[in-house]
Amino acid sequence: MMNSLMTATFINGTQIADEIQREVAGEVETLKGRGIRPGLAVVLVGADAASSAYVNMKAKTCEKLGIYSRKLTIPNSVTTEELLAEVRKLNEDDSIDGILVQLPLPKHVHKHSILEGVDPAKDVDGFHSANVGSLVLGHETLVACTPSGVMELLHRSKVRIEGANAVVLGRSDDVGKPQSLLLMHANATVTICHSKTRNLPEITRRADILVAAIGRTAMVTRDWVKPGAVVIDVGTNKVSDPAQFERLFGNDEARLNDFKKRGYVWAGDVDERAVKDVASLLTPVPGGVGPMTIAMLMKNTIKAARMRRGL
Ligand code: NAP
Repeated sequence: MMNSLMTATFINGTQIADEIQREVAGEVETLKGRGIRPGLAVVLVGADAASSAYVNMKAKTCEKLGIYSRKLTIPNSVTTEELLAEVRKLNEDDSIDGILVQLPLPKHVHKHSILEGVDPAKDVDGFHSANVGSLVLGHETLVACTPSGVMELLHRSKVRIEGANAVVLGRSDDVGKPQSLLLMHANATVTICHSKTRNLPEITRRADILVAAIGRTAMVTRDWVKPGAVVIDVGTNKVSDPAQFERLFGNDEARLNDFKKRGYVWAGDVDERAVKDVASLLTPVPGGVGPMTIAMLMKNTIKAARMRRGL
């Protein structure tokens, strides 16, 4: 099927994330005036290089914004009970407003028990069932960072959500489910798709707002998108095969340089080259949703600091 051509405007997630970080820094100053220094604890289990890099990036951002940060590095051999004990200590620590347990955890650790062990008032990841329940009910609460980052991108790009047909690809606990709820609360009509959904392109073509969070490189292509749709690409997939690189990015010079230097580049769930000719707005990968996740973590830390003190 051929769609009429248009050229999408890219939503600059890096710029919007910077804007949010500046707002957070302002809030930190205000809290400082009241004798409060918000604090975030990040718990890292094991020595996975990617997780370690994410944790360091979070600590660095805290430092930049004036938020107190504490990093706990725990050996891979930790048991569920031992890790729970560490989390409980942080629950009791008044200098800590937000607790983030970096995922994935080792297989022998019971992830659910750990996430449920975090005090919901300090659950800046928004993964505790009490916070998920509040989100379902539409109560003010701590909401998962990536989907709330997507909402900020939509709001700050002046996308009309009310009355829009929104399709969310993916139903994970950390992205798809909370995303669908946030869009519903913003008065979109939401369809949730997953690996058992039939005729995906037929459904996605009805979307005014399409959010892709499936972890499948460039699966969303031109025929999946309604002309003029807003397309948000949450996917973060490593491309290290030269043939796949060539197919997705052709001779994109900047990407090719990265590819040669590192041996891989990041690609989204959306085939950017194809979809930019039909969508009206599109998030790039990298530089779209990614930077928003950390910005929203900082925003949630401030929110937790305020909510805990009834401010
Ligand atoms: P996930 O937990 O693996 O969930 C993937 C979801 O996609 C599942 O609901 C799955 O369906 C669905 N799915 C998988 N293959 C599909 C297919 N072929 N057709 C339709 N649906 C399919 O992943 P996630 O944590 O939600 O993350 C999704 C992507 O976003 C990943 O690339 C991840 O790296 C990225 N991500 C990025 C950020 C960021 O900050 N930018 C943050 C979080 C995640 P079933 O439920 O039926 O299995």
